[in-house]
Amino acid sequence: MTDASAPRAGELTFVAPRRAKPQRHLADLSMAERRAAVAELGEKPFRADQLSRHYFSKLTESAEEMTDLPAASRERLGQLLPDLLTSVREITCDNGTTRKTLWRLFDGSLVESVLMRYPDRATICVSSQAGCGMNCPFCATGQAGLTRNMSTAEIVGQVVAGARSLARGEVPGGPGRISNVVFMGMGEPMANYKAVIGAVRRMVDPAPEGLGISARGVTVSTVGLVPAIEKLSAEGLPVTLAVSLHAPDDELRDTLVPINTRWKVAEVLDAAWAYAARTKRRVSIEYALIKDINDQEWRADLLGRLLKGKLVHVNLIPLNPTPGSKWTASRPEDERAFVRRLEWHGVAVTVRDTRGREIDGACGQLAAASPEL
Ligand code: SAH
Repeated sequence: MTDASAPRAGELTFVAPRRAKPQRHLADLSMAERRAAVAELGEKPFRADQLSRHYFSKLTESAEEMTDLPAASRERLGQLLPDLLTSVREITCDNGTTRKTLWRLFDGSLVESVLMRYPDRATICVSSQAGCGMNCPFCATGQAGLTRNMSTAEIVGQVVAGARSLARGEVPGGPGRISNVVFMGMGEPMANYKAVIGAVRRMVDPAPEGLGISARGVTVSTVGLVPAIEKLSAEGLPVTLAVSLHAPDDELRDTLVPINTRWKVAEVLDAAWAYAARTKRRVSIEYALIKDINDQEWRADLLGRLLKGKLVHVNLIPLNPTPGSKWTASRPEDERAFVRRLEWHGVAVTVRDTRGREIDGACGQLAAASPEL
């Protein structure tokens, strides 16, 4: 048998290169690595500082705009600033102060970020993975599974793009800055540990090495991957840890947050208290209130007993609707009773606003549907 499509000896074949990973970007690299990369391109190491200032402080979009650099250098250095994120669609609400962006990555993967401006702060909610492998049944992202991990620069790029919009005055309220970053977009950040830590470092490193955002303003939200929480405690990065608990008992949590079958409520909370002790940072407990599923007073009471006396704050999230889900948000009276019960135990609690709900940009609604849909 012969295979007609097989190349014969001496015949040239062209196989389109398939990159498994996004191209290397300045934001993937530490300062020392940037100097080495610049030198590799035949440039003086100090160009790494100039390039960093452009990218992280001046928020310059492309190498051509770096007119303080010689043209030949601009071209070479541009290799460290590949376009990793292409904006496919933007939807706004709240008079333009909430803005969801759908991004296409180099391999066609789609992710979303949400910029939310408030009178006193601006928060960007970023994705850390295309899709998610955690399979929580009430979350839209979880339904399609995991496509892939995002790179450090792909994660940072979402923040830089948001910072650029604010700096240019594109968001109502005059020119502004990003004060908070929450890893509450698509993906489980602790399942993409290395890239996420790199991204956090780029965010909190002082300008022009990084974006100079306060570590207190950065929140990493997790389903509760215990070994990763323990590792995070040791990073010396005092970011806020948010744990998506959603149930105080293993029986229910096994179904709402399936990874609970691996790390139980008690283990997750122990890791959270160790994190609080080490970083002196108050841990956030995320709890989506789902009607008649996890909103009973006895569960509030059980939660209160688990949390009382700890360095903790509970964020109750009225469940946001997702396609195909039979669940809905709790009745207002049940929500109020839940809050009262927690307060009775002396636990700090707030109900999160539902910003972005009408543009499917609120918690758990990011599904990155393609624009054709
Ligand atoms: N994987 C991470 C971060 C992503 S989601 C995590 O689970 O923590 C950010 C928060 O939104 C999590 O607390 C998540 O449980 C919650 N969430 C998911 N779907 C939701 C929904 N439909 N309504 C309200 N909150 C939801």
